[in-house]
Amino acid sequence: MDEYLAALRNRTQKLYALEKVLPPAEAVKVRRTFIEEETGTTLEHVGAYTMAIDQAVKKNIENMIGAVQIPVGVAGPLRVHGEYADGEYYLPLATTEGALVASVNRGCSAITAAGGAEVRIIRDGMTRAPVFATDSVIHARSVVDWVEANQDRIRAVAESTTSHGRLIGTMTSVAGTSVYLRLEFDTKDAMGMNMATIAGTAVSTMVAEETGARLISVSGNLCTDKKPAAINVVLGRGKTVVAGVHLTEDLCRTIFKTSAAIISEVNMRKNLVGSARAGALGFNAQAANVIAATFIACGQDPAHVVEGSSCITTVDPVEDGIYVAVTIPALQVGTVGGGTGLATQRECLALLGANGGGEPAGSHAKKLAEIIAAGVLAGELSLLGALGAGHLAKAHQQLGRGEVPRT
Ligand code: NAP
Repeated sequence: MDEYLAALRNRTQKLYALEKVLPPAEAVKVRRTFIEEETGTTLEHVGAYTMAIDQAVKKNIENMIGAVQIPVGVAGPLRVHGEYADGEYYLPLATTEGALVASVNRGCSAITAAGGAEVRIIRDGMTRAPVFATDSVIHARSVVDWVEANQDRIRAVAESTTSHGRLIGTMTSVAGTSVYLRLEFDTKDAMGMNMATIAGTAVSTMVAEETGARLISVSGNLCTDKKPAAINVVLGRGKTVVAGVHLTEDLCRTIFKTSAAIISEVNMRKNLVGSARAGALGFNAQAANVIAATFIACGQDPAHVVEGSSCITTVDPVEDGIYVAVTIPALQVGTVGGGTGLATQRECLALLGANGGGEPAGSHAKKLAEIIAAGVLAGELSLLGALGAGHLAKAHQQLGRGEVPRT
């Protein structure tokens, strides 16, 4: 240890390259000790973790010094009637926001008491959109024509890079001399961003060679990855999922202490009119809360919460109550790759019966998407109900500020 600390101090050893000279666990310990010394900070808890880090330092993190712990709670049982998830589930939520798990739990009670959430995946496609520079608008148009005439070649090159991924289709867009090629893939159980990027790079190289266009970036932001964008709301990205439940007047009164009409009015004035007035892309109450907490627990890429947040919550009047639904246009999830292989995240996926590759391929990622959508519905119901009953502030005071709730 001392030898490596001395080398770090006199700059003959690079901090990020410790894994080249030490086994991963040792490298992380030396790096953490060096950072403790340099900053005068104790990192006792950051240094306490149980995961095996050999894979993590290769695939998930650079310059690792330890791990941050986030409490995980469960909400449920949550009854789900999907095409891939059919049963009762305990939803793992990793969060530091007091009252969130309790809120989702209440929504789960309502859904389960109502007989379950109906869930369907409307479409499924992960996108990557390279951008090319052309010499003129005429050249730009010829690149678009070449892409349209060579779909089979594009598919063959894209699919040569992966054994699971399949090209669903392409879309082109032109702005002056810039040409964007939005490639959409079925990535099965992988969230698919690396897969789509590798395939997109191979396609881009061919397009550049064949058309004379210059590849500027394999991501031209028309994808659109990890930024709020109307294109994802309109066309979908990742999984487009809908979940709905019929709540009777009786359930509204017994669980939420309010009425179906009040829940409907809160949704209309807050989620629909308020969001429209704000120019928002998301027309919901707290979809991002549930997506963030399940994503962190289940090893998903948390930056995709920005896309998941563009959820629309609707309330239809029906006989003897309301039908409440959420529509999530862009939910990116996977059960292989990324952070899903880390020990705690894998356990949370196992809790849902959705860790690793599914049989058939893609069925686990779809199951996870359906369960998360039902969880989002639970969060929406609970918050709309709480607002309807006017006790949101009271719930936060009790749970967020350390008081034990009495009911
Ligand atoms: P990945 O781990 O890079 O790729 C998934 C791998 O799993 C593929 O190699 C695939 O093999 C294999 N696989 C095995 N069983 C599978 C199954 N049942 N279904 C699908 N694939 C299966 O993961 P990814 O989902 O493509 O990418 C996720 C990562 O990308 C995350 O860490 C995320 O943070 C990161 N990310 C990358 C970018 C980027 O631009 N590169 C952008 C955003 C996020 P085959 O391909 O051979 O079939």
